[in-house]
Amino acid sequence: MISFETARAKVIEILTARAGTPETETLDLGGKPSQVLGRILAEDIAADRNYPPFNRSIRDGFAVRAADAAEPGVRLRLIGESRAGVAFNGTVGPAECVRILTGAPLPRGSNAVVMQEHTRTEGDFVVLENAVRPGQHYVLAGAEARVGEVVVPRGTRLSYAELAMAAEVGHASLRVWRRPAVAIISTGDELVALGEEVGPFQIRNSNCISLAAQVTLAGGEPVASGKAPDEAAQLRAQIERALDSADAVVLSGGVSVGKYDFVEQVLHELGTEVFFDAVAIRPGKPTVFGWCRGKPVFGLPGNPVSTMVTFELFVAPAIEILSGSRQPRPVPFFRARLAHPIDERGIVAHFLPARVSWLDEKPEEPAVPVVETLLWEGSGDIGAVVQGNCFLVVRESRLHLEAGEWVDVMPRRGKF
Ligand code: AMP
Ligand code: MG
Repeated sequence: MISFETARAKVIEILTARAGTPETETLDLGGKPSQVLGRILAEDIAADRNYPPFNRSIRDGFAVRAADAAEPGVRLRLIGESRAGVAFNGTVGPAECVRILTGAPLPRGSNAVVMQEHTRTEGDFVVLENAVRPGQHYVLAGAEARVGEVVVPRGTRLSYAELAMAAEVGHASLRVWRRPAVAIISTGDELVALGEEVGPFQIRNSNCISLAAQVTLAGGEPVASGKAPDEAAQLRAQIERALDSADAVVLSGGVSVGKYDFVEQVLHELGTEVFFDAVAIRPGKPTVFGWCRGKPVFGLPGNPVSTMVTFELFVAPAIEILSGSRQPRPVPFFRARLAHPIDERGIVAHFLPARVSWLDEKPEEPAVPVVETLLWEGSGDIGAVVQGNCFLVVRESRLHLEAGEWVDVMPRRGKF
């Protein structure tokens, strides 16, 4: 059985080799920035002019000629004002200065800004307390970006700073990759859709909801393809429909060895090239990853916590690559200090519902992340996950961990 690291690397390798370039779409940035947030840029964004476009003051004070003020205590005549948006229309001559405000253009003739706090005004004159260094307290035109320079490259995921940059250089609309459509099929005769009446031995279909949320968080467009019964012919028809319409297919349930588990059999009938059908993790062992009719297909175990964990590990990187990202994020782990010892059994890695909190031991130092696991009844127990905010990763090579050790946790997307 392969490790989760090897399985994940396989997904990334296959998707990188086989995923085509997504189609693009153009979205309005000015009208609705939120729709562009998190998308991946399909074009280079270049500066439309120099930034800053003029020598820009970064202080409130006085624009001076540094040569006039090599010594402290110099007295200069105040001849005008430059403020943001309204430049001083003249030249600063010897022994003269101009009042300047943050964001204003530096007047011709001046080459330094003196902070207001370091001056004294005497009628039409300004006295400088200190000597002045040429170039102080302003940013040279073009120092941040030159006209034509690429300021956000194609392939970048757009967060708030990239959107601000696009706005600064005047891109009212942005060309981004289309989000991959990810079909979600839940299998199981016991499943009942949300809103329908549920019988005593029936189970509400929660996986289709968590999967839709996880697809969205990973950058995909969830396509609900409904539930499929535990019956080969209907399941097959449903997978074929999903393959026709979506860029990837994610199934939940029906991948174990039970009498009514048909997913793998049907995938084989459809000619799927299967890369793995078992991973050394708990929960999530019978996870299937294959390639069918030019598209990635995942069969995730149906227990809700198994579905969540295996999605994060194996499906999320595939969606990122299908979204146009050529560098899927590394396994999204961070380190926390273990609150109590751990003793797990078996030959697999464990992902345990857990909670990280930040312990403020010493006020002058950054708070320390401390992780504790939560009591749970196994992979059907959504409640244990709800109480936490992450999964503690216990690797097969070290199933015993001591209190106080630094351990890996996989954060739950959307909780941090
Ligand atoms: P399976 O992987 O089909 O053997 O299902 C394992 C367990 O997960 C069973 O208890 C199922 O009832 C439950 N389960 C399967 N699919 C879903 C689903 N879509 N929503 C909630 N629970 C599910
Ligand atoms: Mg089932």
